[in-house]
Amino acid sequence: MKKRQFIKSVGAVGLFSILHKNPLKAETEVPEFLNPMIPPADQYTLPPLDYAFGALEPHIDAKTMEIHHDRHHAAYVTNLNKELSTHAAAAALPLEKLFAQSKKYSAGIRNNGGGHYNHSLFWKLLKPAASSTPIGALATAINAKFKDLANFKDLMNKAGTGRFGSGWAWLVLDNKNNLVIGSTPNQDNPLMDVAEVKGYPLLGIDVWEHAYYLKYQNKRADYLIAIWNVINWEEVAKRYEEGMKRNKK
Ligand code: MN
Repeated sequence: MKKRQFIKSVGAVGLFSILHKNPLKAETEVPEFLNPMIPPADQYTLPPLDYAFGALEPHIDAKTMEIHHDRHHAAYVTNLNKELSTHAAAAALPLEKLFAQSKKYSAGIRNNGGGHYNHSLFWKLLKPAASSTPIGALATAINAKFKDLANFKDLMNKAGTGRFGSGWAWLVLDNKNNLVIGSTPNQDNPLMDVAEVKGYPLLGIDVWEHAYYLKYQNKRADYLIAIWNVINWEEVAKRYEEGMKRNKK
């Protein structure tokens, strides 16, 4: 079986396998969102994309995807493994657990751990020829909180353009099941103790220049308008359900 076919067959636990270094053991136990305590066994690895570099054209160009995945994300993985090789206590914890107490650990662990988690999530949140709207309970919740999809996108884009320097715009499910929009600097994310907006990340949009500069140059706002054409709403909806289950625990 080819690696990519294997990843597909892993299905719902695909992201989980990437973010925990001991996926087979964990898979036979409980889902990721129910057990953040599973200690990893070996090194983190760069997950393959589920689609070709050019699959998101014309909205995100092939060269950007190639550099973003093969160089930027790869560097976060390499540097995370390097950091953890000298921090045994941190190496024993899954990323979510590290994030929850990121103040205790080095900036290198926080930045590279966040970089690996955020990008692993980001690739799953993008999809060639994606459906253009959310459906089901997620759609109901978005409309109830943000009036309608157009207004929601506008608020997300404002979070992205308003983030000074590098960072991420987020749709988060907080621990009271509220949808919240926010942003984080650098490679921080809403699972971190240091984040202003905390909760389970449902949708994250990378607003680092490396995510858009080749095609959009300084026009971050144009990139943010275009990216809605390739958002994988099924994945966002799946994470919404996961987040609700987490909150029941
Ligand atoms: Mn990035």
